[in-house]
Amino acid sequence: MTTNTDRISTESGIEQVRHIVVVGAGAMGSQIGMLCALAGFEASITDIDQDALDRAKVELQQRMTRDVAKGRRTDTDVDTTFGHLTFTTDLAGAAARADFAIEAAVENLDVKRRLFTDLDRIAPQHAILATNSSNIVSSRIADATGRPDRVCNMHFFNPALVMRCVEVVRGPDTSDGTVATAVELARRLGKVPVVLNREIPGFIANRILNAVRDEAVFLLENGIASVADIDTACRTALGYPMGPFELMDLTGIDIGFLAKQDRYAVTGDPKDQPSKSVSELVQRGELGRKTSRGWYEYDETGTKIPRPTEQVISS
Ligand code: NAD
Repeated sequence: MTTNTDRISTESGIEQVRHIVVVGAGAMGSQIGMLCALAGFEASITDIDQDALDRAKVELQQRMTRDVAKGRRTDTDVDTTFGHLTFTTDLAGAAARADFAIEAAVENLDVKRRLFTDLDRIAPQHAILATNSSNIVSSRIADATGRPDRVCNMHFFNPALVMRCVEVVRGPDTSDGTVATAVELARRLGKVPVVLNREIPGFIANRILNAVRDEAVFLLENGIASVADIDTACRTALGYPMGPFELMDLTGIDIGFLAKQDRYAVTGDPKDQPSKSVSELVQRGELGRKTSRGWYEYDETGTKIPRPTEQVISS
């Protein structure tokens, strides 16, 4: 069967891509930069914060050391990879040589628009500018550049070194060649790309995840079943590795809450509003594993303990 991603791959300009600049050295940018270097590209990870760059370098070195200890890589591979990787606060210097930019800076529209204006001014004309944003579609940024045809979303999942899917999202002005190059780049990074033919907030995976979460919360708030039983049904009937409440506790209940608030601000659709019980948990600072309490409680060993429903939601 021919998929979207197969059909467009012939138009890829991947052979032109040698140097990739990744903007932002946080959780996502550091690992995306590492992926690029592991795949043999010259990669520069840039950030405005030298401490963030230092932290990223140490974390990546520790991760590679663990990989060597487990026999997944050799010391020589790791040395070669770090030889391809630069950590710098000099965005202009790095972007001037970039054939492809992946922006993974803080989730703030103004910051991203300013960065894209700078990248557009500095990077060579052929360079593609992609954003890893989870919530901001690229058309909200592309008009800050003079090359909207070479702007798209390229959405990696956390942790980027591990998760295989990359969503490539076509904006209204994104060219076929840009989509094809982003798809081929994702493949060369060892990922499985999927293409969205037009923009929609949340893209594919997070929309489906949100729909499952919304239904889980609906069942809970309507007294149909407990948190633990809803999670158990998802694991044992649907084969999910983790139930929706367990996953919210792991990623942080505030993260999903803020994403919903952002989406509601854009769509105005009441079903995009955070649910009552999620809002109450966030107000009480019960954010999941990181606060030892969310949909479940966690003891000092991190073991999960079910909470009575009346402690989690008000009637
Ligand atoms: P993070 O907070 O861990 O890192 C953001 C980094 O951006 C920080 O190091 C910060 O110093 C840097 N930064 C801020 N302003 C900058 C600027 N002007 N120039 C350069 N660097 C700047 O954030 P993250 O979790 O890595 O998320 C980054 C992007 O990736 C966001 O757009 C987010 O939506 C997206 N994303 C996040 C996840 C996730 O699970 N964390 C998953 C997929 C996509």
